[in-house]
Amino acid sequence: MEIVIASKNTGKINEIKSFCTDLANIKWLTFKDFKDFPDINEEGNSFLENARIKARDISLYTGKIALADDSGLEVDFLEGRPGVRSSRYSGENSTDKQNRDRLLEEMKEVKELSRRTARFVCYMVLYDPEKGVLFETRGICEGFIGFKEKGSGGFGYDCIFIPSGYNKTMAQLTQAEKNNISHRGKALRAMYEFIVNF
Ligand code: IMP
Repeated sequence: MEIVIASKNTGKINEIKSFCTDLANIKWLTFKDFKDFPDINEEGNSFLENARIKARDISLYTGKIALADDSGLEVDFLEGRPGVRSSRYSGENSTDKQNRDRLLEEMKEVKELSRRTARFVCYMVLYDPEKGVLFETRGICEGFIGFKEKGSGGFGYDCIFIPSGYNKTMAQLTQAEKNNISHRGKALRAMYEFIVNF
């Protein structure tokens, strides 16, 4: 069974592959396996809507089953921002570093960690080019926005996100530890169950 990962984000791709290494009957395909793999416009107003758009468009483009992940960070003090704009919070084509800098700047006045609550959210959609949506799932990881960057693992906002119950950032965890508690890991566990029984 071949499944295309509907993303060009190598951080996400590596995590999805690292989680599902023992699914021996699956061959994961990525944008590198296709010529002119399209950039999908994320025009939806929600993670689920965006995940559906990505899964459908990439499945129809490649003619294969596609797995899409739409994810991001919701910060309570910022009324849920950056949310669906997480990857481009500091502007179109912004880097992860620029996005983190903007977020830390906006949180400057919040001095107590307990008021810096946030969560990572991940929606996943599996789409078949003939049958349409096969399965949808989501995962959430609660935590806090730290005061400065710590750690070198992961990607995106990991080095400023402290998961609840930990005193280190997501970027200071091993990949296996992150998979165990992360929004993506939780969504993947349910997706994994579906794929195994498909
Ligand atoms: P999109 O789903 O491609 O629109 O982008 C998701 C964005 O959310 C990423 O570019 C990151 O900025 C952020 N994000 C999603 N998941 C994670 C994660 O596991 N760690 C850190 N940042 C993440």
